[in-house]
Amino acid sequence: MNAARMFGMTGRFAPSPTGDLHVGNLRTAVVAWLSARSQGERFLVRMEDLDRVQSSTAHEQSQIRDLAIIGLDWDGEVVRQSERFDRYDQAIADLDARGLVYECYCTRREIREEIESSAQAPHGPPGSYPGTCRELREPERAERRAAGREPALRLRSDHRTVTFTDRLVGQVSGVVDDVVLRRNDGVPAYNLAVVVDDAAQGVTEVVRGDDLLSSTPRQIHLQELLGLARPGYVHVPLVVDRSGERLAKRRGRHVTIADLGARGVGVEEIVGWLASSLGLPLDAPNLTLSDLVSRFVADDLPREPCAAPPFVDERA
Ligand code: GLU
Repeated sequence: MNAARMFGMTGRFAPSPTGDLHVGNLRTAVVAWLSARSQGERFLVRMEDLDRVQSSTAHEQSQIRDLAIIGLDWDGEVVRQSERFDRYDQAIADLDARGLVYECYCTRREIREEIESSAQAPHGPPGSYPGTCRELREPERAERRAAGREPALRLRSDHRTVTFTDRLVGQVSGVVDDVVLRRNDGVPAYNLAVVVDDAAQGVTEVVRGDDLLSSTPRQIHLQELLGLARPGYVHVPLVVDRSGERLAKRRGRHVTIADLGARGVGVEEIVGWLASSLGLPLDAPNLTLSDLVSRFVADDLPREPCAAPPFVDERA
């Protein structure tokens, strides 16, 4: 029996270990956890460490430690995408066998220039691939290979419009584009891996930052092509600093638990802010995350970007 059938609902938090988690990441993790646990259900943590250049074991460990420090727990082992390439390769082979994959030799710069010089708006979200390599013939591909270029693999999409209902954002529609499936360094692409893993792990609810909202139509399209179930989606508005910019893992210095701790901000204070920023009642002193489970109502979550807590000062 697969995981999806064994459990009624499965939530997850899937960070990329490219830096320490900041309070915005922690807030999203808490929503994912509370949503699963308030339904008494399963919750997983998955490390999205496909990019071995930007990811590190040190960041993975600090992220796991910080999740545990704020009181979040999970079921089973933490899964690492870097150990699951065979699954992604299998999915790409499946799409390829159906004529849905093509080689793309473009550099990022060429894609940007092509988009800028094109009179036509590309199909799909901003920055979508304009289709330059879509109809290349073998001699043209051979020419590019001879020039030392390695191809990325892209999905031959049909540019359909996918509509889905997000628990917080409501109805969302987006055009599917020729998304990358495997990068030209051989690394499977995020959009493919996330779809394969959520299905393989029986994930039924995807909670993540709303910066990923525009990727969801392409992920749903991939799910449908691969015959995978569609999870529910909850895109959480991001935490923004005073200038309205979202907190970033690799920017600002005073947004992680360690930074805050060094400045005398304790875990209780951070958890208190996380709870109040989610509109949860702080009706007892020193509430823990477990205390919040019974107070959590997904439909009451705030739908606007959230101001960073007063104890975070990125300029300090
Ligand atoms: N790994 C992605 C990130 O850290 C999140 C992916 C997802 O939740 O679908 O931004």
